[in-house]
Amino acid sequence: MAHHTPPGPPLEATTRGFFGVFRFSRRAIELVWVTNGRLTVALAILTLIAGVLPAAMAFVGALIIDAVLEATRVAKDTGIVSLTRVFTLVAVEALIVATITGAQRGISLCQALLRAQLGQRVNVMILEKAITLELAQFEDSEFYDKLTRARREASSRPLSLVNRTFGLGQNLISLISYAVLLVQFSPWAVLILVLAGLPSFVAETRFSGQAFTLFRWRSPETRMQIYLETVIAREDNVKEVKLFGLGPLLLQRYRDIFQRLYKADRALAIRRDGWGFVLGLIGTAALYGAYAWIAFAAVVSRITLGQMTMYLMLFRQGQSAVSAILSAIGGMYEDNLYLSTLYEYLETPVASSDAGKKGGPKPNDGIRFEAVSFTYPGASQAALKEIDLHIHPGESLALVGENGSGKTTLIKLLTRLYSPDQGRILLDGMDLKDWDEETLRQRIGVIFQDFSRYQFLVGENIGAGDVRQFDDENRWKDAADKGMADDFIEDLPSGYMTQLGKWFKDGQELSGGQWQKIALSRAFMRTDADILVLDEPTAAMDAAAEAKIFEHFRKLTQNRIAILISHRFSTVRMASQIIVIENGRIIERGSHEELMELGGHYANLFLLQAAGYK
Ligand code: ADP
Repeated sequence: MAHHTPPGPPLEATTRGFFGVFRFSRRAIELVWVTNGRLTVALAILTLIAGVLPAAMAFVGALIIDAVLEATRVAKDTGIVSLTRVFTLVAVEALIVATITGAQRGISLCQALLRAQLGQRVNVMILEKAITLELAQFEDSEFYDKLTRARREASSRPLSLVNRTFGLGQNLISLISYAVLLVQFSPWAVLILVLAGLPSFVAETRFSGQAFTLFRWRSPETRMQIYLETVIAREDNVKEVKLFGLGPLLLQRYRDIFQRLYKADRALAIRRDGWGFVLGLIGTAALYGAYAWIAFAAVVSRITLGQMTMYLMLFRQGQSAVSAILSAIGGMYEDNLYLSTLYEYLETPVASSDAGKKGGPKPNDGIRFEAVSFTYPGASQAALKEIDLHIHPGESLALVGENGSGKTTLIKLLTRLYSPDQGRILLDGMDLKDWDEETLRQRIGVIFQDFSRYQFLVGENIGAGDVRQFDDENRWKDAADKGMADDFIEDLPSGYMTQLGKWFKDGQELSGGQWQKIALSRAFMRTDADILVLDEPTAAMDAAAEAKIFEHFRKLTQNRIAILISHRFSTVRMASQIIVIENGRIIERGSHEELMELGGHYANLFLLQAAGYK
């Protein structure tokens, strides 16, 4: 990737310098520690044991060879064969090997257990954060990338980082113990040992950085692949994909993305392994140089044969310890880069949840919009312009306008899913942004046209309207009655306990109109809310059902505020105030009678629809 810089988000993490990037190591270790302290301690102790013993083994190995030589000499000189010392030493070495094996098993056990717990913990952290985020953040593609990256990679990285940290410790201990023995041969040998590993290490970290850049740069593509998978393979899309024959086309797109990504992957892998081989040769040269030197020392009798085998073994094992240490550091560098995406996501600022106020200065003032304008982030045109309106408690408001005129946006502002760019929205005389979020939520009940269809029980789908009564069967039935859903629910195989959706066993699918009745019942769960908003949730119902539902709705909202968006004028005309929106502006307002008298846009549309019904 050196020849062209891929477009993508800024690479803060990679540019913050080599050591800056280790800043997550401490947090990863803390994370593992709080996840399970006992396992962490066990892991540390076992690591220590597995670190020290290999040097002890080499040392005993040397003693064995010298003891054998000594016993041979004695046997030759005196004819007495004494093997006690040799056998004892062999037994000691066997014991050491058994202990090393045990420690390694223990390490892998601890790691497996920690991995499971840590994966769960990190996923929970990611989801906990997701709950606190704003709608606008989910709609922001750059932010969504962060979320996807965090979810894809970062959940396995903390343990990997900790494993490597311990692995590093283990190999360092081994290396130091080898060095203690090897330095008796020559301090230079120790130096050669360490220096020979450095080139491949430098290369390795460089390539880790590049792999990470690649990973970041391609996250929009990865996201597209994940999306294509859902479109092709999920039940809610299958109908269209099949009937329009979209399958092969989408699959081709999926393949093309892979091909593009694969090319970059292959190039990196080839360079990584190519350089790895070349630089690895330096290590091999160092090893055999030292081999010759040690052999020479044995020939001139500066060291015994036993010592020669020991030094050779120390050098060989020392070299693999050095490369293990260096690759652990390289890996830690990489893990840190990936963890930076996790923490970048976890540290996304969220709107401060300062305890707002729980009541306004004018409790019966209702809702006021004062010169409210709003443009979606990244949009070139304002979705709402200079909106003024006032709704008193006990009144109902109907919004009329073409698709895309801004009706839903108005509701999103009212429910504080977005904040106005200009002007302000008051409830009971207080700006929405000064309200306590919880209080505000409890006061407003909304059903959007794209309401959620949860793959839960029917009853829970209704109960979702009020978390405090999520499981309350009596409340479900009451709400379903008002939402006209009770009839068909009684006919379902397990009534209110029927599983909905196709993802889970025995799930039932509902018709569009039935789903809408469920959604409406959800609105009727909100008996405490004094502002109720229905955004076209009756579009899939027949006119008679819609009229009946609005009757219930009106009864329920007598001293409250009701806001509805509908394309059916038979319903709209019942509202005490009607506003007509066009391109984000209010162009007409008044009661049905007033607007008919005005003879403008509303009157035209009304007459048009009335003619259609004749
Ligand atoms: P209506 O409810 O009247 O059909 P909306 O309020 O949904 O219309 O949309 C008003 C305008 O805002 C449209 O031009 C639409 O394209 C745009 N819009 C709606 N939602 C978003 C969004 N999440 N991000 C950007 N633009 C949006």
